[in-house]
Amino acid sequence: MDPERPQVVVVGSCMTDLVSITPRLPKAGETIHGSKFFIGFGGKGANQCIQAARLGVRTAMVGKVGADSFGNNYIENFKKNKVCTDFVFQTATAATGAASIIVNAEGQNAIVIVAGANLLLNAENLTKASAAISEARVMVCQLEISPEVSLQALKIAHQSGVRTIFNPAPATADLDPAFYTHSDIFCCNESEAEILTGMQVQSPSDAGAAGSVLLGRGCCLVLVTLGGEGCVIVSKQDPNPKHIATSKVKAVDTTGAGDSFIGALAFFIAQHPQLSMEEMVKRSNHIASVSVQAAGTQTSYPHRKDLPQDFF
Ligand code: ATP
Repeated sequence: MDPERPQVVVVGSCMTDLVSITPRLPKAGETIHGSKFFIGFGGKGANQCIQAARLGVRTAMVGKVGADSFGNNYIENFKKNKVCTDFVFQTATAATGAASIIVNAEGQNAIVIVAGANLLLNAENLTKASAAISEARVMVCQLEISPEVSLQALKIAHQSGVRTIFNPAPATADLDPAFYTHSDIFCCNESEAEILTGMQVQSPSDAGAAGSVLLGRGCCLVLVTLGGEGCVIVSKQDPNPKHIATSKVKAVDTTGAGDSFIGALAFFIAQHPQLSMEEMVKRSNHIASVSVQAAGTQTSYPHRKDLPQDFF
């Protein structure tokens, strides 16, 4: 077994975040002054990959960026975070994906995404990465790339016995049922759970009820993240929903908190598979809570050295 092989492989999106900090979110047609602007690295796939890498596991990203300065900078960003970029493809046909993000004083956000090059990641690209996926311990994917490619990645991993984490974001009500049956862990937030089930999800007990419906569609375990309320777990092994609360913190910027949580979970599954899911979720809750206490997406993600050492 190659000791350098990536243990966590993420198939997903890379987005350049264009972030404005404002006192409040503008209304339709309104122009307001913001207090700060910065460019950051985002995209759910890349965020999850970078969070896992910062915790100290070997990771690889499978994605596509434009043959433009944002794309070149993104590849440099992966390298700085020690992520393998062998499967980060570049295209001249579309621009690197971009997300225009507005964050208000309460830490709430409004986001517009133009997926660009992300939607050009294709089956041929995935074939080039299939050996890396099959040899990983965990494969993570989401829906910011073409759904067919995400599903193909889940199938490659599943058939090889690699643990799969699927994050159905952004969610659509008509999700192909095969996404459920190829997901070991199906991890969504409250609003995604609402879209997928048509049920209201505003409390841990609502999340448990929605999680049970999602579990019934064929995945092994469902996690519904609940912001400052932590997370709910429902699994085939233990179908009684379990609320894993967290220490609520004052959020500065919640952008990418869910991705920090998923990246941390992938790390624990790959590196500490002996831990119970409950313990992995507790630790992932803590890591995500650190991420909401600073501005930005990846800039707010903690490194291993910033966290309790008994986590490792
Ligand atoms: P985003 O879409 O902004 O990336 P999300 O909606 O997908 O985030 P959330 O459910 O809001 O994800 O948060 C994910 C995790 O982050 C939570 O399960 C929790 O562990 C942590 N978290 C978020 N907000 C807080 C908070 N205020 N205090 C403590 N932990 C938090």
